[in-house]
Amino acid sequence: NLSQGISKVDELKELDKKYYLHPTTVPKAFIENGPKIIFSEGNGIRVKDINGDTYIDGVSMLWNVNLGHGQKELADAARKQMTKLAYGSSFYGYSNEPAVRLAEKVVSLAPGHLSAIYYTSGGSESNDTAFKLARFYWHLKGKPNKKKIISISNSYHGATIGAGTATGIDAFHSFAGSKDSDVIHAKAHLTNCESGDKSDPNYEKSIRYTIEKEGSDAIAAVIMEPVQGAGGIHIAPDGYLKAVKNLCEENNILFIADEVICGFGRTGKMFGVENWDVVPDLMSVAKGITSGYSQLGGVLMSEEIRNTLVEYDQILGHGFTYSGHPTACAVGLKNLEIIERDHIVENVKNMEQELKKGFKYLEENHVNVTKTRALGLISGFDLQQDRDADIPFDQSIRAAQEVAEECYKRKLILRTADFEEGKNIIAIAPPLITTKEDIEE
Ligand code: PLP
Repeated sequence: NLSQGISKVDELKELDKKYYLHPTTVPKAFIENGPKIIFSEGNGIRVKDINGDTYIDGVSMLWNVNLGHGQKELADAARKQMTKLAYGSSFYGYSNEPAVRLAEKVVSLAPGHLSAIYYTSGGSESNDTAFKLARFYWHLKGKPNKKKIISISNSYHGATIGAGTATGIDAFHSFAGSKDSDVIHAKAHLTNCESGDKSDPNYEKSIRYTIEKEGSDAIAAVIMEPVQGAGGIHIAPDGYLKAVKNLCEENNILFIADEVICGFGRTGKMFGVENWDVVPDLMSVAKGITSGYSQLGGVLMSEEIRNTLVEYDQILGHGFTYSGHPTACAVGLKNLEIIERDHIVENVKNMEQELKKGFKYLEENHVNVTKTRALGLISGFDLQQDRDADIPFDQSIRAAQEVAEECYKRKLILRTADFEEGKNIIAIAPPLITTKEDIEE
């Protein structure tokens, strides 16, 4: 093709448009414009595209490349395991060393009574698995009607039929209309209603009200992210998670923490729930468990759930070909070793302060920047027409998109959360190895 005068970049773009249907992308725009960036290399918090331009990866790609790009130790761990035993099944009682060692390690890091892990290949599978484990647990406890799952607005739990149904962002339901009846959305979130304040005007949208309406006998679990990512960087206010956990306990409902983004240091604690001393019954992890170097997820479960499940004397008909993938688990082990060795969680806490300084500067110098927020290195802000009067931009103005576009021209990749009309949120979540100088830049 080069001899015919077509550059490699143009060739790739044409092939991409023709053969590759992209996830969470506007197909019509993609067919017109082609790929925005074709990534080719990465180093630390920076990535290079195929033209040789370098960008700061301000969102760790999909909040997952936590140790940054080009981490050779992770690559070496993968190579070592791949050349020894790349893959081994965990079905039918088979096992492998990296899967066992990683299970022990993750459980040792996890809060409270979380005592075993069920492996998956990613976040959606983890949440689907958590839902199934919750239902099965109640089934084994003689309560087979406890099947429904409550999730909240602006949540993102994945894109499979199960996890996608729990996702509380409407845009993810217009695709193939996944919104079945066993997952109920409590419309409001992060309010005082959960601690029992029925005078709160949002009461009818609360989880508490939803439990009253549906009946706790029909509900298996409540699922929640400690900090909502894709839905717009919403940090649970102090006391909220604890109130929801207590509410669940009072009603014999399991509490699932979706730590797919928050887990493994992102919030300045090893797990997001630790910011509020909450121990969930089930905890979904993925992304940061390998820093994105290999596809892996898992669900941690309480001792009570584990002990109930291990009494089951028939086949537990659930699992994925890549559950307990040796190479992925070897990468996960190395990833956790580096997180501890290099005091990554501590760095995240320090960088939160640097980010907040930057946000203060933005607020002082840009009248549209408001509601800046950060917990560790998951952070963001809103853009509003009039922040003092709390007036959003007119829906015709895609302010967050415009800002992200300008940043992109300046070689900084950010993310917007503007699935809902009128919302203009910028998300910033750089790799956890980010330095003070990086943040200043
Ligand atoms: N849960 C949360 C909080 C997420 O942010 C994501 C993905 O962004 C998922 C679940 C789904 O994970 P995956 O895309 O690996 O299936």
